[in-house]
Amino acid sequence: MSIFIFIFLNEYNKIFKYTRNFFNIPFVYLSMADFKSKRKCSTDENHRRLIQQEGERYKINRLRCEQDVLKRISNPMRPFRSGGLAGGGFNEGEPMITIPVVVHVVYKTKEQNISDEQIFSQMDVLDKDFRKKNIDRNQIPEVWKSIAADTRIEFDLATVDPNGNPGLAITRTHTNKNEFIDNDDVKFDSKGGKNAWDTTRYLNIWVCKLGNDLLGYAQFPNGPPETDGVVISYEAFGTIGTAKAPFALGRTTTHEIGHYLDVFHIWGDENLLEDPCSRTDNVIDTPNQKGPNTGKHTFPSHKEDCPNTGENGTMFCNYMDYVWDESMYMFTLGQYARMRATLGGPRRTLLTSDVLRKPEQDLHLARMIRLPAKVYDGIDAVKPVEQIM
Ligand SMILES: [Zn+2]
Repeated sequence: MSIFIFIFLNEYNKIFKYTRNFFNIPFVYLSMADFKSKRKCSTDENHRRLIQQEGERYKINRLRCEQDVLKRISNPMRPFRSGGLAGGGFNEGEPMITIPVVVHVVYKTKEQNISDEQIFSQMDVLDKDFRKKNIDRNQIPEVWKSIAADTRIEFDLATVDPNGNPGLAITRTHTNKNEFIDNDDVKFDSKGGKNAWDTTRYLNIWVCKLGNDLLGYAQFPNGPPETDGVVISYEAFGTIGTAKAPFALGRTTTHEIGHYLDVFHIWGDENLLEDPCSRTDNVIDTPNQKGPNTGKHTFPSHKEDCPNTGENGTMFCNYMDYVWDESMYMFTLGQYARMRATLGGPRRTLLTSDVLRKPEQDLHLARMIRLPAKVYDGIDAVKPVEQIM
């Protein structure tokens, strides 16, 4: 939305309000008639749960994260600490970033144990959506074509486990739980789920049966490391197998990874503010809107308009709205700036992760840079970095 001026106190107040009113929030569950026809993401609820659970430490870490991201966006020349990348600008020449992924399938029934092919179909969607190579990008309304972003972020399944053993990063865990909710049980062996792999080196994605009509949820950056990542319903993951319309185009995972990279819902999540049009997603180029769009939309969409939304209406087709998969097909440059700033700041360890290939086969450039000069000049250069450091 248009309000871009953001100060420390605003964020503090926002989080404080969440804390103060946590138990007063009306939790609205969808009726059976709406079952799985409305998108339901509980990233914001998860955020508020973590405020309750983790207290000051979490609040302060989130504030630091937001300050860091906004600082990088406001100064596009500020370099990433790793790799010498430009931080947060809109330069199409920015280096590609590949995020290493591990997928944890947690299943009770045979059907929930989704196939490798279904996982590959999701990886394919991520690469297309984040690179603006999605086939439906031709539906982006003319008025927003110039701000639709290729984030230059791609995703690959890691090829080594945390111990360095080669193999595709997919884990499969049988559980006795009928379903999981947004309480992070799925992220722990001891609670019927699967422990995260090192969250500084992998984007962890858990796929399981989710209750409460949830499609998925994410953890924002700078949260507890042991629960970092995203959780997706097996019925909204990938494009084949158990994926069910209207959420069978893999967009739930695109949306949740947007949150993982610190992008908020397009309408702003401060649902405790009296005036819904005063909420902000801290993105400069998304039109203001008062609430989520749901279902199927065509341009222009005015249902969630605010007084200052403008004649083009709300940007229903944004991945961070709540429409069906077929109606969302773009990130904006402003959202892209937040993602790149996050990858240069709070999530920068992913840039130097060495888990995409066997270390001896392809050393990550950023680690090479940190090697002492003699390595480049001497015979040690042929040794794997891991043996030298
Ligand atoms: Zn969401």
